[in-house]
Amino acid sequence: MIELAEARRVLLAACPRPEPVRLDSAGADGCVLAADVIAPANVPPFDNSSVDGYAVRAVDVAGAAESSPVRLHVLGSVLAGSVAGRPVGEGQAWKVMTGAPLPEGADAVVMVERTSATRTRQLGTAGDLVEVLSGVAAGAGVRRAGSDVRAGELVLAAGTVLRPAHLGVLASVGAEQVQGYRRLRVGVLVTGDELVTGGAELRPGQIYESNRAMLLALLVRANCEPVDLGVAGDDVAGLHELLSSALRRCDAVLTCGGVSMGDSDPVRAVLDQFGGLNWLQVAIRPAKPFAFGVLPGPSGPVPVLGLPGNPVSALVSFELLARPALRQMMGHPDPYGCTVLGIADAPLPRPHGDGRTAFLRVSCRFGPDGRLHVRPVAGQDSHQLSASAAATGLAEVPDGRRVEAGDELPVHLLS
Ligand code: AMP
Ligand code: MG
Repeated sequence: MIELAEARRVLLAACPRPEPVRLDSAGADGCVLAADVIAPANVPPFDNSSVDGYAVRAVDVAGAAESSPVRLHVLGSVLAGSVAGRPVGEGQAWKVMTGAPLPEGADAVVMVERTSATRTRQLGTAGDLVEVLSGVAAGAGVRRAGSDVRAGELVLAAGTVLRPAHLGVLASVGAEQVQGYRRLRVGVLVTGDELVTGGAELRPGQIYESNRAMLLALLVRANCEPVDLGVAGDDVAGLHELLSSALRRCDAVLTCGGVSMGDSDPVRAVLDQFGGLNWLQVAIRPAKPFAFGVLPGPSGPVPVLGLPGNPVSALVSFELLARPALRQMMGHPDPYGCTVLGIADAPLPRPHGDGRTAFLRVSCRFGPDGRLHVRPVAGQDSHQLSASAAATGLAEVPDGRRVEAGDELPVHLLS
């Protein structure tokens, strides 16, 4: 057996490093930037009003109050997207809407609520007189050019994992495309003669296939493009054909099933035919068996990751091994994601004394103390997927450690 950390190290060292490509910014949610994005221009590009109101010279309205309003001559209205036709002079104002460029000559905007326009709802036409009911400091009600992003400034650094707000930022600086790492096309090939799909009636010895939908959905959440390679029986020729075609279509392939130790399993036989596969016994529970190799595809090396077939093992294997490998292949600066400290609210099942670190499926919640609390889900066997479905974390318990209620332990959060 090898430790998880070592298995991960060998796996990640073998996986190819991604090449940066041009990505359309708008569709790049979840992708990683490969290069810094520098702002070509100021955001906002011009001084503009942050409120609906009147653009004024602060000096003109310095003494304004409810009891002694200051009257200004309105020059007209400026909407967002248009510009004032002439500068504001002494005793004058433009009515401005939020986002309208600040007219020349004005240095502040009095919000409409502090004027007589609140009463009339008009006073936006040239020739109107508006009463200002309080003074404003110069700069009030104005968003300065470059106050969000300055021209030449670093907007987003290489290595940023793009989230929706980042896509907004990129759009705001006019970066239609960015250098980044594309989503991987990842195939899922599920194996087993006993597996039935499509709701057909089960014959003796058969079970419904459960891992394909789970793995495809996990891939979507991992920002990959899943490729459903179907369910293969345990026949060598068919499997060989399916895997060969997968290598032509995918950047990486997940197989599921048939990787157990001492198995005369055909999956293993097929993978061995391709050569270069590593058969690992990882010192974790569940998901001890794991296979991987990097096979030649027409457009580059294709990692093939062999996950165990027991549904909970497949899930845990994906989280602890496949996901980090895929993240690294998509340029993530931190392939392993986040592990946090949680507090056990109940004793965790007792260790097995088999030299393996347990990754117990736990449900997580934040307590009133603001900390993460965990409870084991009922049913920790590797076939009990229904119990594990309730889990939102994997609590890491080294072999031999007893965890009592109140103890702290590392928890790997499930996405
Ligand atoms: P294997 O890893 O192929 O030796 O399978 C281990 C256990 O997981 C066996 O009980 C299989 O029937 C079961 N199993 C394998 N693949 C799947 C699957 N896709 N869906 C449900 N159970 C599976
Ligand atoms: Mg099998």
